[in-house]
Formats: sequence, C-alpha cells, structure tokens
Amino acid sequence: MDPRVKAAIEGSLDESIRDLQRLCHQPSVGAQNWGILECAQLMRDLLQEAGVSARILPTPNKGNPVVYGELKGTSSNTLIFYDHYDVQPAEPLELWETPPFEPAIRENRMYARGISDDKGHIVARLAAIKALLRVQGRLPCSVKFCIEGAEEMGSPNFVPFVEQNKQLLKADVCIWEAGGVNWEGRPTVNLGMKGILYVELEARTANRDSHSSWGTVVANPAWRLAWALSTLKDQDENLLIPGFYDDVRPPLPLEIDAISRMPDEDEELRQSLQVEGFLKGVRGKEFLRRHLLEPTCNICGIESGYTGSGTKTVLPHWAKAKIDFRLVPNQRYEDILDKLRRHLDSKRFADIKINYSDGENPGRTPIDHPWVRLVADAAMEVYGSEPVIIPTNAGSGPIHCFTDILGIPVATCGIGYPESRIHAPNENIQFDYFTKGVLHTAAVMERLGNLNKTTLTENLHH
Ligand SMILES: [Zn+2]
Repeated sequence: MDPRVKAAIEGSLDESIRDLQRLCHQPSVGAQNWGILECAQLMRDLLQEAGVSARILPTPNKGNPVVYGELKGTSSNTLIFYDHYDVQPAEPLELWETPPFEPAIRENRMYARGISDDKGHIVARLAAIKALLRVQGRLPCSVKFCIEGAEEMGSPNFVPFVEQNKQLLKADVCIWEAGGVNWEGRPTVNLGMKGILYVELEARTANRDSHSSWGTVVANPAWRLAWALSTLKDQDENLLIPGFYDDVRPPLPLEIDAISRMPDEDEELRQSLQVEGFLKGVRGKEFLRRHLLEPTCNICGIESGYTGSGTKTVLPHWAKAKIDFRLVPNQRYEDILDKLRRHLDSKRFADIKINYSDGENPGRTPIDHPWVRLVADAAMEVYGSEPVIIPTNAGSGPIHCFTDILGIPVATCGIGYPESRIHAPNENIQFDYFTKGVLHTAAVMERLGNLNKTTLTENLHH
C-alpha cells in the first residue's frame, strides 16, 4: 500500500471518532420507526463531506429510503459497498453501561447502538476514501454506496428496489456489511449468507375458549398445531416436506476445503451454552459443515391457551407457532412456502393457516472468484496473517440481490471482532481493529484499481 495512505489512515482516528459520534448519536431504530429519515439525511451529509456525491432514494411501498453515493476513480473498475444505517432496538436499556445513543469511549473501545452493526463499517469506508483522496487526489477505483434503511427488519422492499435500479447499482464487485477478525485476531472474509423463510402457523377451531371437559368432542387447536408441527421434521433432523431438499446444491469441493481450514467453534459454543453435545453428535469440521451448509427448520415460539400459575381447565380456541427455515443455494423461499402449504394440505391440515412474515433467498460467491483472492491478499498485507475464508454465514441478509440479481461477487472487509456485541447491550468497536479495517478497505481499493478488468469479468460466468 502507498505508505502515505497508510500514514494518513493511522493519523485519522480522531476524525473517524467525530464521525462515529455524529452518526451513532442519531437513533435509527426501524422497528420503532425512530429517527430513520433524520439518519438518512445525516448519512447523505457524511458521504458528501467525504467527497462522495450522494442522494436519498425512495424504496417501493413507502419503505425506508436508501442512501446512494458514487465517486469515480482513476480506474473504471467499480466497487459497491452494501451497508445499512438502521439499527436494532437498544432494549434492555438497563444493561447498558452508558446510554445507547450517547457514544462513549472506554479503554480503546467505543460504545453505542449500531456502532459495529453497521455504522462503524460505513465510517471506516469513508475514512479509507478520505485518506486516499487527501494523499492521491483521486480514488484508485470507482466506488458506489448502497446504504439500506431496513436491514434489521428483513429488508422488506429491497428486492424490488434493486430490480428497479439495476443500472444505477451496476458494479464489478461488492463489499458486504460486517466482517472483521475472529477470536484469534485473524481476519475473516465471508462470501455468502443463507436465505430465510419466516412464517406463523395458526390453528383456530372455534370462536371462543370452552370448558376443557368439551375436549371429548370439540377439536383442540393446540393438538392440531402440535400434530402439524410434528410432520415437518423427524427426530433425526430430516425435513419431511416433500421436495424440500430438491434444489439444495451439494457443497463444492472448494467449500469443503475452506471449511477444513476454518478454526473449530464447537467446543467454545458447547461450554458457553452448557450443553452436552450437538445435534447428530457433530463436532469439529462436521459441526461447521452442518452449521454453515445445511438448511434448517426452527420453531421460534409457540402460543396457546393458559400458561399462567396454577390450574385452569380450558380448551383454547386458537394456537400459533412462529417458524423459520434457513435456506441454502439454490433453494427459493417462495418455492418452500408453496411446498409447505401443499404438505400441510396433504397431511389433512388444510385448516392450518400460514401467515407469511418474510423471506430472503440465499446467495454465495464462488471461492475461486478472483475478487475473493484480491480481498484475501489485501487482508494478508494489512493483518500479516492468512485470512479465514468463510464460504457462507449461517445468518441471512439480502445478499442474493447482489450475487444473483446484480450478478456480482461479494466479500467482507470489516471492523468487527467477536466481542462487538451486535444486537446486544454495550455494542462496541475496538479502535485497533477499526483502523485495520480502514487499512484493509484502502488496500482493497488500491488493488482493484490496478486489476485488469477482464480478470474480473471472465470469471463471472464460469
Ligand atoms: Zn448489519
């Protein structure tokens, strides 16, 4: 990396802290509809102050707006950053050591809601851009920003937004939100996410609750629901919905190979959760393979009847369960939703209603894509250690909008660390990792600027 850029970045922490203070002081809690528009405006201002031309774009169905930015560089190779300015609710407030929207610095860390997920990442991208512009006058590659405002709510209007703005969002490569270092301080490069289908199953058998003695002749919705749930999965963890696995693409040798190089996580988790072992007895690489590459069906909650203290002999008239399916390439959530409906009908559960909540398709970048090598080499340069390549995260996000709809490779280049406490009280960043993340971003941009365009496009269609 240009040593002047490196020095500029290492000397710019105070400026980044001021940006972090401004951005994290502004609440932007989507679930509580709190401060979203104000935060979008502030986000646009911060981009513009960094020299990026920015504007606020509406999303369909009056969804939270997207902040879009662009800046041309010496090379026309274009990098798009996907990030989000919305944050999770800060509750429970009493567990915060300092108020969640009053950013506070303690022992080389800075605390605030959203500072790691995802506002700190945005400020880190801007710090890299400011340093490159200050030293070189121009960016080595072209950049775009697509900063969403509803990621923490499942990105409800993002797919149509991307479909309507394909030309605007056109880029060669994408850096995804999040990422950073693992427990050993080694950088991680994450290449994908699972999809998700979230539904509520609802059984209703009468217009009101009855005396439980009617259980002889009146249908009980909690039994209906329990029976229906038991048809979804057997006790060996196999999903029983016909066709559920049809589109699951078997893991590629390169994915298995990448997993074999990842550090094990099972023993740490086993102790942390105080469990004897894991489903199907998986450990080590088998644990990782199953966790990252297999789809699941999980019951998030069940509700019906009386669950208070003492006895109440009642026959409830409704029962509900919330369920999520985590999906892997090439499963599609609409297809799984259809198959779930057909399955319930065929098992004589046509009376059970499916209330669709949200869905996202999975997405993964091929491990042998030259973009992955570039981001990994840049990490090696900055951190001095070989990065851990993670074929996919077990969580979900709108990544398929980029991998599939826009057709560009995605990787992470972040500032997070395992104690970031995202979504939890005392969310924080650690300044050394923040600066490393800024350096990594600058190194990535420098390398992308030097790359022959055909190297990237040739490999997009293999
Ligand atoms: Zn996030």
